[in-house]
Amino acid sequence: MGGNRFSMSDLTDAGCCGCFGFLRKQHRSVMPFRGSSAAFSSDYLLPHNPEDVDRSFYNGENPDDDPHDSESGSQQSVKRSEEIILARIQNGLICRDVPVKETRKLTISKDENGNKMINEYVRQYKIGSGSYGKVVLYRNTKDGKLYAIKVYHRSYLSRIRVGGSETALGDVLREISIMKLLDHPNIVNLIEVIDDPNTDNIYMVLEYVEGKSVCEGCGPPGGIGESTSRRYLRDIVAGLMYLHAHNIIHRDIKPDNLLVTSSGMVKICDFSVSQVFEDDNDVLRRSPGTPVFSAPECYLGSTHHGIGADVWAVGVTLYCMILGQYPFVGENWEDTYEKIVNNPLYLPDDINPQLKDLLEGLLWKDPEQRIKLRAVAEHPWVVQEEGPIPEYECWCRRDKSSAAAAAAATTTSSDQQSLS
Ligand code: ADP
Ligand code: MG
Repeated sequence: MGGNRFSMSDLTDAGCCGCFGFLRKQHRSVMPFRGSSAAFSSDYLLPHNPEDVDRSFYNGENPDDDPHDSESGSQQSVKRSEEIILARIQNGLICRDVPVKETRKLTISKDENGNKMINEYVRQYKIGSGSYGKVVLYRNTKDGKLYAIKVYHRSYLSRIRVGGSETALGDVLREISIMKLLDHPNIVNLIEVIDDPNTDNIYMVLEYVEGKSVCEGCGPPGGIGESTSRRYLRDIVAGLMYLHAHNIIHRDIKPDNLLVTSSGMVKICDFSVSQVFEDDNDVLRRSPGTPVFSAPECYLGSTHHGIGADVWAVGVTLYCMILGQYPFVGENWEDTYEKIVNNPLYLPDDINPQLKDLLEGLLWKDPEQRIKLRAVAEHPWVVQEEGPIPEYECWCRRDKSSAAAAAAATTTSSDQQSLS
């Protein structure tokens, strides 16, 4: 059996979860592939060591200079993304109608049943473990609704170095800043940030997605079927097109970060390694993502384009949804990289030819030749009877286009006046 044809049972039977323990990312707890039992080995889903992680953008420096060798380089990168986000806020490039609530006062108490409360939220139970914190389900006593709260500890985050002098606190603050900009039906909504300077805790109150991840039910003997995969893919692409149109690269697209609501809608979550860029320059150094979802170019050369790498990760996700297995996976990280870079894509002989064409386009090794999301939105396998995936019109773009139209109209009328 070829390495790229590793079935879920091979991974499970081989006991991969245990034998690759040494490969685990230092600060990430190991989560099983959400809801899919042992079908996928979580070890393959883990990112590189945090010291290997790059959160910076290539900004014209010599690519041979490793930014992680340089304290000032790392500080510059954090400052740079902060500056970009600030400039966007100042220019009104926030898509939200309702801003994220910012709460600077934290009160920890207990309700009448002895359940822990943070402000007006009553703790239910833990629903997820993250890289640097946990995700807990809470009920809001004011509106009675459930919320997923991502809990972080500032002192812990400040101790985790993720490259150069940058710490995980920088990642979390960037995650919050990016999520504050966003408003899209296929992206998990950040409702409130509770950050009391007198306490160690930071809470991200997120809309709760009560369903599963997109690969729930994947595994032997196969995936979740073409029509469900198509529906999910349409939502993933819609959310990702919105992000890319707003110069944001997700950088960790994978089933665990693609949650499905009870009505079957996909919401992209986890912006913990996302980046915002400007001037259409999405060049990145290195990949912080998860090995089996990383594009070949992330392992070749010193820089790569983040948008293309996100598209590749969509391809791996679609492959998993359809076939219930990873397209390229090896015995360990190096072997996995080697297969991603060199192995041809295996697809069953009887696969739908339109789907084959799409998977080949998404998992094209050369990023220049790889299909673009706009083309995915119009691909025959995606379109079917629903039509192409429409581009989302958000507030900020509407404002931008109406401002541009108003400016153009003013220019034209003043030109006409000066001519007459
Ligand atoms: P990390 O950066 O550590 O991976 P995530 O944001 O992906 O953190 O959260 C970890 C897990 O918690 C997710 O894979 C998911 O299972 C669960 N989770 C996160 N956000 C939500 C949410 N809004 N609703 C339901 N579950 C969530
Ligand atoms: Mg995650």
